[in-house]
Amino acid sequence: MESVIGMINEFDTIAAIATAVSNAGIGIIRISGSEAMEILVKIFEPYNKKADVYQLENHRIYYGNIKDGEEVVDECIVLIMKGPHSYTKEDVVEIDCHGGVTVVYKVLNLVLKNGARAAEPGEFTKRAFLNGRIDLSQAEAVMELISAKNRFAIDASLEQLSGKIKNRIQDLRSTLLDEIAYIEAALDDPEHISLEGYTEGLTERVQKIRAAVKKMADSFDNGKVLTEGIRTVIVGKPNAGKSSLLNALSGRQRAIVTEIAGTTRDTLEEQIMLGDLSLILVDTAGIRDTSDVVEKIGVEKAREAAAKADLLIYVADSSRNLDEDDHKIMELLKNKKSIILLNKSDLSSVIQPKDLKAAGVDAPVLWISAANEDGLDALEQTIRDMFEQGMIAGNDEVVITNARQKTCLLNACESLRLAEEGIENGMPEDMLTIDMMDAYTSLGEVIGEEIEEDLVNRIFAKFCMGK
Ligand code: GDP
Repeated sequence: MESVIGMINEFDTIAAIATAVSNAGIGIIRISGSEAMEILVKIFEPYNKKADVYQLENHRIYYGNIKDGEEVVDECIVLIMKGPHSYTKEDVVEIDCHGGVTVVYKVLNLVLKNGARAAEPGEFTKRAFLNGRIDLSQAEAVMELISAKNRFAIDASLEQLSGKIKNRIQDLRSTLLDEIAYIEAALDDPEHISLEGYTEGLTERVQKIRAAVKKMADSFDNGKVLTEGIRTVIVGKPNAGKSSLLNALSGRQRAIVTEIAGTTRDTLEEQIMLGDLSLILVDTAGIRDTSDVVEKIGVEKAREAAAKADLLIYVADSSRNLDEDDHKIMELLKNKKSIILLNKSDLSSVIQPKDLKAAGVDAPVLWISAANEDGLDALEQTIRDMFEQGMIAGNDEVVITNARQKTCLLNACESLRLAEEGIENGMPEDMLTIDMMDAYTSLGEVIGEEIEEDLVNRIFAKFCMGK
């Protein structure tokens, strides 16, 4: 697929069905390229005007018939968006026709017969990128927006689409370039520009850039968790109420429960929505057969499950005293995002939150009654507080959710670290600028400024048809 896109002419007029191909109410065919208007004129007859390429005005909607010769194929409305004020910056025409699969294909085929080429997946967005309307991070945001699974994913991709990542990267690059330019200028013209004492302040400035880049790279983990789902493992002794909690959570969710095969054969993952948070409940096969975590799968197994969790929920039966096993499990909670639930709040309790604090666990402790579904709102709020930082729209933080971008940012960090090391070791200035320039290049790759054509093709090939 990639090689095909590489070979095709980037200036062809392209067309594709832009809506889901189903028997929906409306189907949209999108055409982009210099011949979009000519093609339209050949197949479209507006009701009020004789269609003529020169008469159809920009940014107008026309109502009429799509015709194949004398045969009326469909009644439709047509949107005219001449470049550069269009999605691709080229002339774009959208034909909204009746949504039956047959009709939509008939109109598409007619468009192709009259001179357009079938678009490759993502080719419209690729053109928007190649024609400079959006940068690569924005193009990727389009793709992420389409596949967004929840509100956080939508917020993150909309922010990215608005150019937040692009702007931050451009700021960092420009700061870096100023430094490089100064050093280069001084090396070229030592008589007028002095590097005396320059490197002392430089370390600090490079460190500052690196910290900002690292922060962006680190935002990936939190961003990913929110957009993909929080991997949540529920642990606790037999009869503590783990199954009851699972049921209560599944019962509360307002979306369809899906069961997805886990990465290993003996785990099962279930995605549930808790309000607008996605939780991936990770269940080991052992936990499913019997609720006995400690005895059946052992602390060792629980430890394995816990290691790959974003969140551990420890369920304790508050009507029973803590014992050795509780302490063993609580060991797992250290250094992990975790929540302790004192279950069976409807019974008289023999343990209190302070007993858990005394046991050295530093996780929020909440009362719940899984059986009565009490306390679940507070649980939802607690999870939100733990994961939501940096995700609220309008916040200054930049959150990245794309693994490719994270890799570029980490590469930039590494080059900056090498530059710092070079300064420390008294490396000649022209060597420093090599590492700094590498960092500048890696940052450019985030927004697609320094990127190889092959990679561009690979990225856009992952898009869906018509986008
Ligand atoms: P698991 O072994 O940890 O999965 O625990 P279960 O969910 O199977 O629950 C064990 C027992 O405790 C069952 O009889 C439940 O009905 C009961 N149980 C669970 N949650 C509560 C609760 O909040 N209050 C009361 N009174 N009983 C509960």
